[in-house]
Amino acid sequence: MSDLEHTVDRQASGLDAFLAEVAEMLGQASLLTGAACAPYEIDVAHCRGKAAAVVFPRDTHSVSVLMRLAVRHRIRLVAQGNRSGLVGGAVTDNSGKQVIVSLTRMRQVREIDPLNRTVIVEAGALLSQLNRTLESHSLYFPIDIGSDPAIGGLIGANAGGSRLLKHGDVRHNLLGIEVVLADDDGTVVQLLAPLRKNNTGLDLKQLFVGTGGAFGIITAATLELKRIDQSTQSVFVALPDHGTALEVLQAFEHQFGDLLCAFEVISDAALAITLRNFPTLRHPFGQSSASCYALIEIASSMPGLHSLFAQRTEQVLEELYESGRVHDAVLGNSSSFWPLRDNLPLAIAKEGIPLSFDVAFSRSRLVAFRDQAAQWLQREHPLLQLYDFGHFADGGCHLIVLVPHAHIAQYGIAKVVAVRSGIYKLVSENGGCFSAEHGVGPVNAAYYSKYTAPEVQKISRAMQYLMDPQAVLGRYRYT
Ligand SMILES: Cc1cc2nc3c(=O)[nH]c(=O)nc-3n(C[C@H](O)[C@H](O)[C@H](O)COP(=O)(O)OP(=O)(O)OC[C@H]3O[C@@H](n4cnc5c(N)ncnc54)[C@H](O)[C@@H]3O)c2cc1C
Repeated sequence: MSDLEHTVDRQASGLDAFLAEVAEMLGQASLLTGAACAPYEIDVAHCRGKAAAVVFPRDTHSVSVLMRLAVRHRIRLVAQGNRSGLVGGAVTDNSGKQVIVSLTRMRQVREIDPLNRTVIVEAGALLSQLNRTLESHSLYFPIDIGSDPAIGGLIGANAGGSRLLKHGDVRHNLLGIEVVLADDDGTVVQLLAPLRKNNTGLDLKQLFVGTGGAFGIITAATLELKRIDQSTQSVFVALPDHGTALEVLQAFEHQFGDLLCAFEVISDAALAITLRNFPTLRHPFGQSSASCYALIEIASSMPGLHSLFAQRTEQVLEELYESGRVHDAVLGNSSSFWPLRDNLPLAIAKEGIPLSFDVAFSRSRLVAFRDQAAQWLQREHPLLQLYDFGHFADGGCHLIVLVPHAHIAQYGIAKVVAVRSGIYKLVSENGGCFSAEHGVGPVNAAYYSKYTAPEVQKISRAMQYLMDPQAVLGRYRYT
């Protein structure tokens, strides 16, 4: 499109009028255009778009004004947290007509209630910032992930993380929400009451959880908090194979019940590539010693349990070792092992182009899927490398298929699509889902259409039309 055509197009779309009104009503300082938008146009997964502008509302009223203007001028708004989402949902498309709404100026912690163990916090606050603020109350928000998301982004993605086994995902820890709707008035819906029980009708807040900003822009949330763990025990275990990992999981669940808070499995190949690319990290056993490993954590907010945890861990490990289900194990604290797990995706990306799959199964199908995927890749795509790790206890598997630097030229778009389709077919055949934690966005939209039940698609479409009839919200339309 030529510059002239672009200008005519912008005027026709009402974009210039929209931006002028935003500047007038929210102040020029709340608006970026042109090259200044660049840092906000790309996310952590390198999804990139071209935005017409980035707007930084300071409060809920500003978001409401913005929404009113967007509806009037039919401008698409894309809510943005800390851009750590992995499905491209927080960046615009390439049209140069969509506008990013960055919540970075809305980071206030509005109210902490230590007695009720709740906090009301604005959507742009970062998880790390919130947890630092809560520390003096011995409280924290128990979603534990390797990135540093904003609260709005956590809700938009319904993040899970490494301690989902014990604490559940965001949905399970969310008590309330404040959200701005895409209607003529930019209606603000306040559902922030810090209630654990409320059966007075439709639980409307759930509509905004895990739906990537498609139904409204979240401005604040009420979160249920947990007491900071006082007794913890971590252990890194070498295992003969992935199947045995499930037996070890059962043994730990049997011994520790709901005190078991994390059970991550990492393949030997995934651990090796991490150590190769992060030379300051150390192999817990000195060298490769197994087909896969489990990082296990037991935790309680009750003080004084550490020696009991250590004693019972040794006891269960001894039994597992005797029966050949564990090759080796080292006990440590959480900071000794988690860097190995958290740096894994970054390490893999250093050696080529990673094709990531965030999939989930019933525990009983997890290993079958993993083995079938490995065999299929070896047969159909021998140049590619497979790295798998994930929240095993939740049935979660992060599978990364790496196109090594040396073979990138051979892997054009058609072959990449063939790899994705082949893996997702196996996911479906094993009763799994194509997006376990990361949601639906431009990166995996094609598989939503293919693998989501038609009746669910129909209802989602109708809901989206009801909530956003002018199509002014989010990257994804449930079309
Ligand atoms: C190293 C690494 C490790 C990760 N580990 C995990 C993990 O273990 N588990 C997991 O679940 N995820 C994980 N993630 C993914 C990511 O961190 C989460 O999806 C997170 O919730 C995204 O938060 P964000 O603030 O960066 O959101 P963004 O990426 O900015 O946005 C995510 C989505 O939410 C929408 N959104 C943002 N703010 C709002 C708002 N105010 N109102 C409405 N919609 C909004 C966006 O439009 C977008 O669709 C990981 C990412 C990285 C880089």
